[in-house]
Amino acid sequence: MSIIVQKYGGTSIGTIDKISKVADKVISEKNNGNSLVVVVSAMSGETNRLLNLAKSINPDISGRELDTLISTGEQVTISLLAMTLAKKGHKAISLTGSQAGIFTDDIFNKARIDYINNLPIKKYLDLGNIVVVAGFQGITKAGDITTLGRGGSDTSAVAISVALDAKECQIFTDVNGVYTTDPRISPGAKKIDQITTEEMLELSSQGSKVLQPRAVEFAGKYDVGIRVLSTFEEGTGTIIKKENDDKMEKAIISGIAFNKDEAQLNIRGVPDQPGIASLILGPIADLNIDVDMIVQNVGEDGLANFTFTVPRNDYKVAMQSLKESSKKLQAKKVKGNNEIVKISMVGVGMRTHAGIASKMFSVLAENNINISMISTSEIKISIVTNEDNLETAVNVLHKEFNLDK
Ligand code: ASP
Ligand code: MG
Repeated sequence: MSIIVQKYGGTSIGTIDKISKVADKVISEKNNGNSLVVVVSAMSGETNRLLNLAKSINPDISGRELDTLISTGEQVTISLLAMTLAKKGHKAISLTGSQAGIFTDDIFNKARIDYINNLPIKKYLDLGNIVVVAGFQGITKAGDITTLGRGGSDTSAVAISVALDAKECQIFTDVNGVYTTDPRISPGAKKIDQITTEEMLELSSQGSKVLQPRAVEFAGKYDVGIRVLSTFEEGTGTIIKKENDDKMEKAIISGIAFNKDEAQLNIRGVPDQPGIASLILGPIADLNIDVDMIVQNVGEDGLANFTFTVPRNDYKVAMQSLKESSKKLQAKKVKGNNEIVKISMVGVGMRTHAGIASKMFSVLAENNINISMISTSEIKISIVTNEDNLETAVNVLHKEFNLDK
């Protein structure tokens, strides 16, 4: 029997009625002769509700207690789904992250999975159960509950697929696949049938919310196929795997992602000397804040300017740290902007096509969109601009690069 891992997100299991429909889908896949492991998120809105409760006590709350709290949403849905499956006549058992042997490091609120002891899940599968596992959570060696960062159930599902050598990891959600861009911003957005892990990783890291980036990273590393599907409509969804089948006609650009969750920080007039970058960014890294784009330009008289972006949530803390560094370095000025958006075009076809960046910049210029930062990789070009420009920028790029065709 092959093992299929299915993951259902919060909107798919937001009510008892919806849980019953999910149970039917699980049962029908089981009736195809597969062993089923089902990973679930919390009911839609639940994780936010719990977060807000905690924030009403302390707006800057983070750490161990927060994970103990926000991991409970998934404990509700695993048991409700297992009960529903049982009522429909199928043997099922729910497992929390710790019961399922999901071990993580101890970086609370954004823990990484170290390893999965697959024996508990295997044992219950062998006994004929449908095994329902709580996504988003794990346990440290010391026995503390951790969570994997927002959207972390995707990563749980992929990691479990790897640990069980599953045939496929099916991610069920409220959209029927991965789109060329967000249809709410660009009505011409089209569903993509197949995309490489590499491209998907860029799209999700750059703001496409369909999958947690770490899930895609994991899938690429261990070569697991992911399929993104709708819970509510029939369809074949989007397949994400290492290599595209049709090597024939590769799109130059596969998709456009955007991210409003970043903020920009800028420090001016620091000495242009070896070691400056690490003096500025070191303290930020020590705070466990991920720095994304970095630009350094040399100004006049041996002074340099430094601009970088951080998650918007970490803006205040990063700004504080930058102000302290600024005193030590006798910088001229520190500035910030937390109303920015990063827009990224992604496609493996960029490797073999020149001039994509200049075309992108000229389209934006024609539409009066000012770019404040640029970064490129082999298969991606990102720009930062003011948040107000989001819709126009995405729409003109989507059209210019024929993504609506
Ligand atoms: N419930 C968690 C969240 O809302 C994890 C997930 O949905 O994947 O972020
Ligand atoms: Mg999600």
